[in-house]
Amino acid sequence: PGVSPYAELPGDIAVSFEFFPPKTEKMEAQLWQAIADLAPLSPSFVSVTYGAGGTTRERTHATVARIVRETNLAPAAHLTCIAASKAEIADIADQYWQAGVRHIVALRGDPPPADGGRFVPHPEGYASAAELVAGLKHQHDFEISVAAYPEIHPEAVSAQHDLDNLKRKIDAGATRAITQFFYSTDAYLRFLDKALAAGIETPILPGIMPVTNFAAIRRMSGNTEIPDWLVTMFEGLDDRPGPRALVAAVAAADLCRRLYEGGVRDFHFYTLNRAEQAYAICQLLGLRPQEITP
Ligand code: FAD
Repeated sequence: PGVSPYAELPGDIAVSFEFFPPKTEKMEAQLWQAIADLAPLSPSFVSVTYGAGGTTRERTHATVARIVRETNLAPAAHLTCIAASKAEIADIADQYWQAGVRHIVALRGDPPPADGGRFVPHPEGYASAAELVAGLKHQHDFEISVAAYPEIHPEAVSAQHDLDNLKRKIDAGATRAITQFFYSTDAYLRFLDKALAAGIETPILPGIMPVTNFAAIRRMSGNTEIPDWLVTMFEGLDDRPGPRALVAAVAAADLCRRLYEGGVRDFHFYTLNRAEQAYAICQLLGLRPQEITP
C-alpha cells in the first residue's frame, strides 16, 4: 500500500521500436529525432514499415540504409509480397543484403480497398507470408520476423487455421513473431499458451500501440477488442490531444505492466515516429538509458 505498482519493476526487459518511412523533410526530421531519443534504450532492433502494396519501397530502403550507415542500431526492414513478382522481391532482398541489412519482417500485405478487400496473389508472386519467408530464406540467411494475431487475422477461417499459418511461417524459417496490437492482456496471454501447445517455441513479441483514437484503431485492425473500461478512460478526450496522449501512455504502461506480471520480458512498440510515449513506458517498466557513443 502506498507504493506505485511500477516501483519495483527492475527493467529486465528487451524492447524494439517500429517506425514508418517519412514522406516529407519535416517528417524525416521527426523520425530521426525519435530514433535519436530512443537509441539510448538499446533496442534489440528497430523496424521500418513498408507502405501498402510496396508504395514506400524506395523510402523504406532509404530509411533502413541510413540506420545502417549512421547508427549502431540493428534495423529490420518490413517487406510485403502482395502485388509483386518473386523476381521483384528477390531484387529488393538482394539490395537489402548488399546494404548490410540482415533482418526482414516478412508480410503478405493487405489488398487495396478497390479490390473489395480480397487478396489475389500476383500471378508470378508468393501466395502467402509463409511462402515469402521460404523464398527469402532460400536466397540469403536473413533473420526473419513475421506477424501474429492474438485476436485472429480477419481473413482467417478459424483461430486454429490462423495458428497453423503462424506455425507454417516459423517452420519456413522465421525466428520471431510480432503481434498485431491489442488491448486485452488475456487475449495475448491465451494466445501464447495456444501457440506453445501448437509447438511454436519462438518468441512472440507483443505489439504495443498506445491508443491514438478509436476510429483509427478500428480502421487499422478489424478484430482488436477495445474493452469498455478503455473507452471510458478516453471519454471526452476526442478534441484534447494533449491529455489524450498522456492517458494513452498510462493505459499502454498498464498493459505492459500486466504483461510483465504475466512473464513477458520482450516488448515491441509501434512508435508512429514519436519517442515520448514509448520512452515514458519503458521508463515506467524500469528500463534506463545506456551511455552511447554518438
Ligand atoms: P499471412 O501470414 O499470409 O496470412 C494472411 C491470411 O491468410 C491469414 O488469415 C492466414 O490465416 C491466411 N492464410 C495464409 N496461408 C494460408 C493457407 N495456406 N491456408 C489457409 N489460410 C491461409 N502491412 C504492410 O503493408 N506493411 C507493413 O510494413 C506491415 N507491417 C506489419 C507488422 C506487423 C507486426 C503486423 C502484425 C502486420 C503488419 N502489416 C503490414 C499488415 C499485414 O500485411 C496484414 O495483416 C496482412 O493482411 C496479413 O499479412 P500476414 O503476413 O500476416 O499474412
